[in-house]
Amino acid sequence: MQQKRVYIETYGCQMNEHDSERMLRILEGCGYAETKETKEADLVLINTCSVREKPEHKVYSALGRYKRLKEEKGTIIGVAGCVAQQEGERLLDRIPYLDLVIGTHAVPILPQLLEKIEVSGERVCETGFDQNGGYLKAILPQKPLGKVKSYVTIMQGCDHFCSFCIVPYVRGREKSRSSREIIEEVKHLAEMGVKEVCLLGQNVNGYGKGLEGEISFPELLSRINEIDGLQRIRFTTSHPRDLSEELVQAFSKLPKLCEHIHLPFQSGSDKILKTMHRDYTRESYLEKISRLRKICPQVAITADAIVGFPGEEEDDFDLTLDLIHRIQFDDLFSFKYSPRKGTRAAQFQDQVNEKVKQDRLAKLQGIQKEITLQKNQALVGYIDKILVEGQSKQSDRDVTGRTRSNKIVNFEGDLGLAGELVPVRITKAYPHSLRGEIYTSTWMRSL
Ligand code: SAM
Ligand code: SF4
Repeated sequence: MQQKRVYIETYGCQMNEHDSERMLRILEGCGYAETKETKEADLVLINTCSVREKPEHKVYSALGRYKRLKEEKGTIIGVAGCVAQQEGERLLDRIPYLDLVIGTHAVPILPQLLEKIEVSGERVCETGFDQNGGYLKAILPQKPLGKVKSYVTIMQGCDHFCSFCIVPYVRGREKSRSSREIIEEVKHLAEMGVKEVCLLGQNVNGYGKGLEGEISFPELLSRINEIDGLQRIRFTTSHPRDLSEELVQAFSKLPKLCEHIHLPFQSGSDKILKTMHRDYTRESYLEKISRLRKICPQVAITADAIVGFPGEEEDDFDLTLDLIHRIQFDDLFSFKYSPRKGTRAAQFQDQVNEKVKQDRLAKLQGIQKEITLQKNQALVGYIDKILVEGQSKQSDRDVTGRTRSNKIVNFEGDLGLAGELVPVRITKAYPHSLRGEIYTSTWMRSL
């Protein structure tokens, strides 16, 4: 029998990238192989994001592209992720050639849904929330992944209900996995050659909530730190309100925990933070940053920011810019506020004009670009250990890897270095990456 092929297109955050990996592993377990060519595919899955309007729109243009594939080859077309969860049956009504809508909790039953389509020819929509957390179960790889790093979901969903955010509606309420399961998964990944894990959750510092007798997030980090073969641990995302002193201290105590934190602040204005329902103030955010830098002076700090939230006046925006100047983030992911149907902020009367949003975003991004470049330039001349991930996208002669602070470094080297920690001298800085050369000490050169 000819092997079936699946093509997966992914939009949005790391959580979605990881869900796509999980879907691929499940499908491999029932006879599918991945293809990068849509024309070879028997199944096309579009894994979607609805956090902002732009990625949501991409789904419809992607679906437009696959109409012909359906007509010519009978390829099964499916939509997964947040848009699937949000739109459900409406997607099937709107797109007549769509076969499958699979919500965020239904990933583990993907094979059964496909079988139903294949056997009965029915179009299928599954968007129920699974209260037992079955959707969080590990889907372990059965062979070495050929990858240096891997995501591990430790929790999903969110209880914060920030007034702008769709996540609690499309991912459900906060649910943590048991630490035993997480630790087993990380051990398994380390045995399969993974050197770095990134622990995923919408608010990892809330880890363990609702699980009786469960350990805290810093304790979980400490246990993962003991796993043999693993070299590096990262996590994302933390909510500033829940960043505990215990977690701050972990940066000085756990050798495998990388010196990088992504701590979204969203706005520098207390007035806006309040209507966003973020539950912290500008001052308390600044205090947390100074605490982190005191305990771990080399920590790299990145964040998310939103401009043009309803009611944001010029003074509020100036406070956001002031915060950026003060903190000097290593990098920043910044967005224009995008009203999301069903969230509270979408109903606010004082929406900001699109042109103002655009101008503010351009100004903020210009300022941050300079800061990021300066930060990168300050690293030139230093020697750092780079965990090599694979071939660089820019040149066949180069490999790519990251510093512990999560900066991308490209340098000339053999692909056989993948998975190795290599000392590299930084020679050049760009806005989004660094260039380097393998460092061999005088002592090593004389051998
Ligand atoms: N849980 C994380 C936190 O609280 O920091 C954030 C997760 S959210 C999926 C990623 C980022 O998308 C947010 O930090 C925010 O900056 C941005 N975002 C979410 N909703 C948005 C909206 N309606 N408009 C613009 N940006 C939005
Ligand atoms: Fe969305 Fe707020 Fe939850 Fe982050 S904490 S996922 S921004 S509701």
